[in-house]
Amino acid sequence: MTQFIPFARPDIDDDEIREVTEALRSGWVTTGPKTKEFERQFADAVGAKHAIALNSCTAALHLSLEAAGVRAGDEVITTPYTFAASAEVIRYFDARPVLVDVDAETLNINPDLIEPAVTAKTKAIIPVHIAGVASDLDPILDVARRHRLAVVEDAAHSFPTRYKGRLVGGIGDLTCFSFYATKTITTGEGGMITTNDEALAERCRIMSLHGISKDAWKRYTAEGSWYYEIIAPGFKYNMTDISAALGLAQLRKADRMYRRRQEIAVRYNEAFAEMDELQVPTVPAYSTHSWHLYMLRLHLDRLSIDRAAFVEQLRQRNIGVSVHFIPLHIHPYYREEYGYVPENFPVAYREYMREISLPVYSTMSDDEVDSVIGAVVDVVAANRR
Ligand SMILES: *Cc1c(COP(=O)(O)O)cnc(C)c1O
Repeated sequence: MTQFIPFARPDIDDDEIREVTEALRSGWVTTGPKTKEFERQFADAVGAKHAIALNSCTAALHLSLEAAGVRAGDEVITTPYTFAASAEVIRYFDARPVLVDVDAETLNINPDLIEPAVTAKTKAIIPVHIAGVASDLDPILDVARRHRLAVVEDAAHSFPTRYKGRLVGGIGDLTCFSFYATKTITTGEGGMITTNDEALAERCRIMSLHGISKDAWKRYTAEGSWYYEIIAPGFKYNMTDISAALGLAQLRKADRMYRRRQEIAVRYNEAFAEMDELQVPTVPAYSTHSWHLYMLRLHLDRLSIDRAAFVEQLRQRNIGVSVHFIPLHIHPYYREEYGYVPENFPVAYREYMREISLPVYSTMSDDEVDSVIGAVVDVVAANRR
């Protein structure tokens, strides 16, 4: 039997170690020159004018909504098919997450359901680009323009993803990326806001560091001064140079990592596309796929086991798999606070019940990819109805 293949594993080598060591030796460990350089290079990499490096994507989403003017009692539209962060940031303002169901193919927000959910209290839309496929942004931006709403993209899975040829990061008003350990590039923990709007960028930057109108780097270096002003009660969300050093090294190999994930996804697609028990991911014509997640769906009517047993049998064959996502509306908090039942968002619920995510990361060897394919084929064969 093969050695356990984890669900995710970061791609770290001597370049990262050298870059982080350089940050440590420089004596500048918090936000400084490496962070500025990482912001500049990341903005270039996604074709955005501004980038603000932060300690998480959750912080990025929070600051983006703040900059978009969300206040207590407002409403923000997003989907239940996502991670906790996408909606909890709405609750930070005592605003209401208005959930709308997803498209059954992409599991991204169904654009047709957005306008009916808009009220006088709606301030923003948070499309989540699940797995690394862009939401259909044109109709979303169109509704947003007509109702004067901000579009804050949750692009935690989407570096790099193109929508109609343009890179995600330079399209909506504010785009939020994650550099968490499992994401397509990592800084350990980290996140980034990108935007083409100078005023929004400035507000996010100020609120990321105590609402102070100058950042620490400018304050403490020789050309800076001791004077600063607090213009709002901000937050403490800045990225450190230690993290940014990791990010710079990851950016240099982001292309190679992306190409390797694509190769793995192609292998999976070839192996599974003809199997009646499985549904491989579809990539709509308007988007590319970053392959942050490889989301496989089970045709449960053709299998004698449910999804939980399928996951368990893969684990017994030493394959680390996961499920993305347990829809927000079936979690206790959202159920109790908003009275949801699973049927409120039938597509999200139905698709969640039959989804499993397979390992897909650049450090997977060909043998490991073969082992995953072999195990999936084996579990299907053992449990065919
Ligand atoms: C990982 C993730 C986040 C949060 O990212 P952090 O950097 O961990 O805060 C937000 N949204 C989605 C969809 C995610 O998968």
